[in-house]
Amino acid sequence: MKKAIIVALAAVALMSGAQEKKEANMSDAEILKWKDGKKAVFMLEFDDSCVTHVTNAIPELKKRGMVGTFYINAGNGPFKNKQNDWEKEIPKMGMEYGNHTFTHKGAPTLEEVDKDIALANDEINKCFPDRKTPRLISFGQPGGVPWKITKEEFEKLLAKYNLVNRPSFFGYPFHAKTKEDVLKLVDNAIAKGEMGHHDFHGVGGDWLVTPMDIFTALLDKLEANKDLVWVTDPVSYHKYLTERKGAELKVVQKDAAQIKLQLTCKTDAALYDLPLTLHTKVPADWKECSVEQGKSKTSAKVEAGAIRYSAEPVSGEIVIKPAKK
Ligand SMILES: [Zn+2]
Repeated sequence: MKKAIIVALAAVALMSGAQEKKEANMSDAEILKWKDGKKAVFMLEFDDSCVTHVTNAIPELKKRGMVGTFYINAGNGPFKNKQNDWEKEIPKMGMEYGNHTFTHKGAPTLEEVDKDIALANDEINKCFPDRKTPRLISFGQPGGVPWKITKEEFEKLLAKYNLVNRPSFFGYPFHAKTKEDVLKLVDNAIAKGEMGHHDFHGVGGDWLVTPMDIFTALLDKLEANKDLVWVTDPVSYHKYLTERKGAELKVVQKDAAQIKLQLTCKTDAALYDLPLTLHTKVPADWKECSVEQGKSKTSAKVEAGAIRYSAEPVSGEIVIKPAKK
């Protein structure tokens, strides 16, 4: 008898807990944690403009419509071996470039590394002539070379060149020693709902080589989980995260005719321009909605009583109305 009561009480407690959780998860209007409502983020980063990036890695990425970020050293031999590919062909394939300095010689002095970073940014801008400048560029510090500047000097350089320091190098064969270790990075990112990444040197050749079968197994795993994982580049990840943390979304009016939201963003719109993904509950009889933000107007289909849509990360009003029948 006593036991039955405890079980029943426990069940009630569980049910109300679940209910509360459901309501907390589904607020009337929210900025989703990651772009397009994905559960996790994954980034593929490639150092030193290895020739095998051009011959082995990029064709596999391209086949799957996946982005890789290449930390090029345009002043060095491997880059020059494939200069036309790096400068003309690869930027058209949807790949991203990061600053790994022009010559990978490190920071023997502040003056030298300043110049090496500036030259690398110039080269990246030359490869993407259609993009506005200044813009944020990812920075990957070259390893295995002297780095004789202070943390403060380094921070100043990053700010001077609009660079975003990437997460520390992590990859095969240093931190992940088997194919299973590499694949587990994706599972961990999904389980935590956070960002995971793998960094490469050679792929199927060159130096510090990741074997081809491990590389393609990772891409296949990401492709199999594409509904859960946002495969992106470090600057897009940084933008989304920074924008979301600096933004607030509030319902200011809600009636049968429209929902009015106030989006407040603290980020600098000139540099932080990646659309945020928003989620808003709408009245039960709305089937399709129009979403207006400033001069832009889009439509969104109602699913499970709510819409999901993109919004520019700028402060202002967003107006949602049922689409006219
Ligand atoms: Zn390197």
